[in-house]
Amino acid sequence: METIKIEKKLCTCCMDAHEVKIVREKDHTIFKRVMVEYEAVYEYCDRADEYLETGEMISQNDLAMKNAYRIAMKLLTAQQISDIRKKYQITQNDLAKLLGWGEKTITRYESHQVQDMAHDTILRKIDADPEWFLAILEERRNCFPEMAYLKYHNAALQVFEGDRDKYLRKSILAQYAKYCHAELCNGGMNVNLDKVVDVIRYYANSGRVISLYKVKLMQLLWFADFLSYKRRQSSMMGLVYTALPMGAVPIAHRSIINLKGISYEEIEYEDKTGYRFIGDQNGSYPFLSDEDKHLLDIVIEVCGSDTKDQIVKRMHRERAYQETKLNDIISYQFAQDLFIDEVP
Ligand SMILES: [Zn+2]
Repeated sequence: METIKIEKKLCTCCMDAHEVKIVREKDHTIFKRVMVEYEAVYEYCDRADEYLETGEMISQNDLAMKNAYRIAMKLLTAQQISDIRKKYQITQNDLAKLLGWGEKTITRYESHQVQDMAHDTILRKIDADPEWFLAILEERRNCFPEMAYLKYHNAALQVFEGDRDKYLRKSILAQYAKYCHAELCNGGMNVNLDKVVDVIRYYANSGRVISLYKVKLMQLLWFADFLSYKRRQSSMMGLVYTALPMGAVPIAHRSIINLKGISYEEIEYEDKTGYRFIGDQNGSYPFLSDEDKHLLDIVIEVCGSDTKDQIVKRMHRERAYQETKLNDIISYQFAQDLFIDEVP
């Protein structure tokens, strides 16, 4: 028995005014033929050595018992149901309506009524699959006022967007999986996408990198990783680069530039699309060390004002590029000869 607090009041047990303890106790009961253990809160009269529940405690203890049952049965708890609903910023009644359930169903599930297995499965699916949420919202669009529909739609899109980044990262990591023990491919470090995002943001925010288009960005990433390997025997981001006619290009570069946190604008030319990377005015880079930033500053100082042609030429002068066959992986062993590092 754990005492939570002590209150002087009229004790409804012995009908005398005295200090009454509020205590927390392990309790158990059989609910739906399952033995459930849970923590209950009671008043305790030490004169009569008796426990007592106020109306509020009865309700709270009932909820604690039902939640313990839900956990034992691997069902969502009331709080988890509420969290799923809040993720989509939808009201209890509207979520019930969206799912075609009785109007008060969700309200009851978020308190004392334990959901059945079928409804539990549907709530989990809603949680895991924002695309499905959007699809049924579209189907039932007429059930909601326009304002509510738009609010739920936007919230679900945001959830969807968050998931998109998760899948994008998985697909990039899958493409890098085979290099995980190949030091000369990844510079002795497994790819770190948080760092990749921060490095690109650092370049875009620096104000000292002119016209940061994709080809230039790819070279700046390469210089950062190779300079880091030369100085510290470890690359900065763990990217693996192949030699293409325009220079070094990391594996999965198309996916990398779409990671959350990286912004670019698309510029349409007659025959192709250009990607110009833009800063986010946020000067915080939680995944970069001071040493990382120092190395990036060196790269910026040397190449920041390069035009695209200049940086491509700069890359073509590097021994690492010259010694690598087209479409092959550029080995980090060439970092020792890095030309950029010789520039005063
Ligand atoms: Zn008493």
